[in-house]
Amino acid sequence: MLTIKHFYPSVSTICLCRTLKLSPQSIYFLSTKVDSTTNENKKQETHVQHPALDTRFNQYRIAYRYRHDMELLRGYLVFRIFSINFLVNHQDKIAYWGRRILGNWLFKTIFKITAFGHFVGGETPQEIKPVIKRLQHHHVKPILDYSVESDDHIPLVSSSQVDHMHDQNATKFIECIHTSHDVCGPDNLVAIKVTALVRPNVLKKFNTILQSMKNHSSLPPLFELINQQPTNNKAVVLLQDSINTHLINNQNQKSSKVTLVPDDLTEIYNLLIRLNNIAQACLKYQISIMVDAEQSYFQNAINYLATELQRYYNKSNIPYIYGTYQCYLKDTLDSLKHDLTLAEKYNYIFAAKLVRGAYMEQENRLAQEYGYESPINPSFEITSQMYHTCLDEVLKNTLQRQSDQIRIMIASHNEDTIRYAIQKMKDYNIPHNSPTVSFASLYGMSDYVAFALAHAGYLTYKYLPYGPIEVLQPYLFRRAQENRAIFAKADKDRRFHFKALKDRIFKSKH
Ligand SMILES: Cc1cc2nc3c(=O)[nH]c(=O)nc-3n(C[C@H](O)[C@H](O)[C@H](O)COP(=O)(O)OP(=O)(O)OC[C@H]3O[C@@H](n4cnc5c(N)ncnc54)[C@H](O)[C@@H]3O)c2cc1C
Repeated sequence: MLTIKHFYPSVSTICLCRTLKLSPQSIYFLSTKVDSTTNENKKQETHVQHPALDTRFNQYRIAYRYRHDMELLRGYLVFRIFSINFLVNHQDKIAYWGRRILGNWLFKTIFKITAFGHFVGGETPQEIKPVIKRLQHHHVKPILDYSVESDDHIPLVSSSQVDHMHDQNATKFIECIHTSHDVCGPDNLVAIKVTALVRPNVLKKFNTILQSMKNHSSLPPLFELINQQPTNNKAVVLLQDSINTHLINNQNQKSSKVTLVPDDLTEIYNLLIRLNNIAQACLKYQISIMVDAEQSYFQNAINYLATELQRYYNKSNIPYIYGTYQCYLKDTLDSLKHDLTLAEKYNYIFAAKLVRGAYMEQENRLAQEYGYESPINPSFEITSQMYHTCLDEVLKNTLQRQSDQIRIMIASHNEDTIRYAIQKMKDYNIPHNSPTVSFASLYGMSDYVAFALAHAGYLTYKYLPYGPIEVLQPYLFRRAQENRAIFAKADKDRRFHFKALKDRIFKSKH
């Protein structure tokens, strides 16, 4: 067990430090490691020293130590290019013409050494190994993200081809868990997307039905049943019975028009088996998975499946399954509160990441097109308020339950939100290197925040996408479009890349 004594510098301490010619950065937090296996009174104290965190996040020298000089130059140029709205808006056309003019090989090579290289770890597990080592060297943990997902527009291929693709994606996620274990060691994280494992139309239907059922307590414990009888589809039969009972009782609702036909149930069964195989691989390799949140027309179903997985797999002292809460959704606080109550009721670890949400433009556009109320909060401020309230709600729960029963990840590049979380950790006496609260950002973004946090001993992660260029190019383009807000604000990233590069050139000349 780790207990921390925070050492906040008083005026007299600062004076003493000045006398000793220590810079403010060298005023340290003291961590006291207590070995719980030995006698309680015989504390084995090892002092882990962490520099104090400068929450202005201006320490660009700390941020880019893991980057080579050329990578800094590339980072600067990439942020310049992505800040030009015209290029972000027309990147598909630019890529199309780029391919036609330069040819596939040259286009791919240029893409690989520019944007792909900046935001993606590599194409294969071999390629990402050195990147991971560099992150780990600076105490930043990778979250491997083998980026596959799908939306409504799967090309028309045969049913068996679609099944095969979903099986292959499940295998890829399991390989990713294996790679994470081999390269990063146990106790690391891998991201998965449910839409890579199931037909979107079935997930949508399932979502509509679940959305209409305010209370899911009548539904069977899916993964308990699957693990009792893996070759038997009892879980799905019971699921269908519970849904049918609900539909009979609520015939007037919109959802009563949505029914799951036998093929849909087979598809849901296959999805449960794939998810269960992935979770079993987590157990085998001692790696956790993070179930990403996606579009709102899938998200009730995704959240329900993540919660069901937690209910079965988060019973030990390791949180194998993390869910995700998108704070731009109007109903997120309610669903988070509901899930916290469930975790307490069934006594499993509640583990989740909090994000603002990545599909805002698409969600608002669809709501406008089809004339329904947008599920997205009306303003950025309300989304931010929701984020902070959700965090408060989770932290309040650490008082009711043991703190090791709660894991919350602040997945944001927003400095105010990170400062808010840090202040809350102090208010709740959560040590800064406690696993209860962690921080995460995307690889290649906001390094000046992530590496400063890691340097000060906070548990810090980077989402590290990897995979073949052909697969990742649309993903990257979509991310760039959805994250236009971040790129617009990426001025600091760009300036700091430039400053760090200038520093290196200047230093090397002297
Ligand atoms: C590690 C990590 C994992 C992630 N995983 C997921 C995931 O699983 N699912 C997912 O959907 N996203 C995910 N994201 C993306 C995330 O949801 C955000 O899109 C992105 O991080 C930008 O939010 P921010 O807090 O970092 O930055 P900020 O610039 O502070 O916030 C921008 C965000 O605020 C919200 N916003 C902006 N304007 C408005 C408005 N007018 N009204 C309402 N809301 C508004 C939008 O969500 C926008 O993306 C992840 C991000 C990170 C860093």
